[in-house]
Amino acid sequence: MAQRVAVNDGAPGSKRTSRVRVAVRLRPYMDKQDEKGEGPCVRGLGPQKLEIINWRNATETLQYQFDVFHGEQTTQQEVFLTSVKPILPHILNGQNASVFAYGPTGAGKTHTMLGSQEQPGVITRAVKEVFKLVKAQEKDPDGWEYSVGMSYLEIYNEKVLDLLSPGSQDLPIREDKDRNILIPGLTHTPLSSFTDFDTHFIPASLNRTTASTKLNQRSSRSHAILLIKVVKSQRGPPHRQQTGKLYLVDLAGSEDNRRTGNQGIRLKESGAINLSLFTLSKVVDALNAGAGGRVPYRDSKLTRLLQDSLGGSAHSVMITNIAPEYRYYFDTFSALNFAAKSKQIVNRPFVRETVLAPTIAPGKRAREEQEAGGSGE
Ligand code: ADP
Ligand code: MG
Repeated sequence: MAQRVAVNDGAPGSKRTSRVRVAVRLRPYMDKQDEKGEGPCVRGLGPQKLEIINWRNATETLQYQFDVFHGEQTTQQEVFLTSVKPILPHILNGQNASVFAYGPTGAGKTHTMLGSQEQPGVITRAVKEVFKLVKAQEKDPDGWEYSVGMSYLEIYNEKVLDLLSPGSQDLPIREDKDRNILIPGLTHTPLSSFTDFDTHFIPASLNRTTASTKLNQRSSRSHAILLIKVVKSQRGPPHRQQTGKLYLVDLAGSEDNRRTGNQGIRLKESGAINLSLFTLSKVVDALNAGAGGRVPYRDSKLTRLLQDSLGGSAHSVMITNIAPEYRYYFDTFSALNFAAKSKQIVNRPFVRETVLAPTIAPGKRAREEQEAGGSGE
């Protein structure tokens, strides 16, 4: 897997750009999301693959391959260790990174990024780890001094809003002479510890999530962006300074809200309702095609904001969240087509059995096979 994180080998002489590593996370099947009791229509096939029923032809299954596949049994800790922790040391070396949760509303983006008290997500684990790395570095008396700070913002209807300063107006995005992206006027809060982070982040994120349950669709249409900035300064002359940025992003839902019934399925256009999300998918495609072509960062607020932290010398991971129930089928299908490295049509019907990730306990395995009628391959 390691070679997949590495930079692309473009054509000779082409500009080398970093690939965006793509992981897919399947959330557990939920009865209440499946009124017709149809069972799941997606299942894992190992650490990089899954299969989904083919809606065009029930005698076929579609198999997809990604950089990483996180099956439904994957814990928050495993997602963090595999997909996020490895990129964090770069932030302390003046490099930038970004982690996104992509996928339809209800598929687990907020669970992955934010999680709960009992099952904290990527944000909590990443911020703790950044402080741990900083503390370890500071033990070296001849080394550098570090300062950590945060900003928290939202992009909604192509407006940039400061979540640490409620009621603020749309903020401008600028680029300095060194091509760093900055947002003048955005609140930047210095942090001395993880507890400090929690104190500022929890109320701001609760504000956002509770204000937007059920009918209020804001949370599914906006991008929540947490920025952790690490500034590293030399203690002695020449007092050099380096800044590393980490963006942790809970994206807007990727579902096509215009879809009606089983008609008008326009998978191709499904991102277009949300300009930033649509542009992000074009940017990721352009980066991963690696041919050195134009990357359309400037076409939306989100991609403009992330320009110095996505592609180039930055380290980026996209965790595509999907749900196994049939009601999500078309949104899952379009998310997979975006996330996949490769796709294959297999000539056999989708089998309703559970394929086990190596991490599952044997007791669980037996139980699931019984439930699935013990069908073998
Ligand atoms: P999204 O943010 O993509 O709309 P959520 O994170 O809110 O989706 O997830 C929808 C529901 O599914 C929530 O109740 C969440 O707790 C639950 N859920 C999502 N992913 C998982 C998971 N991996 N394990 C257990 N529950 C999950
Ligand atoms: Mg959410």
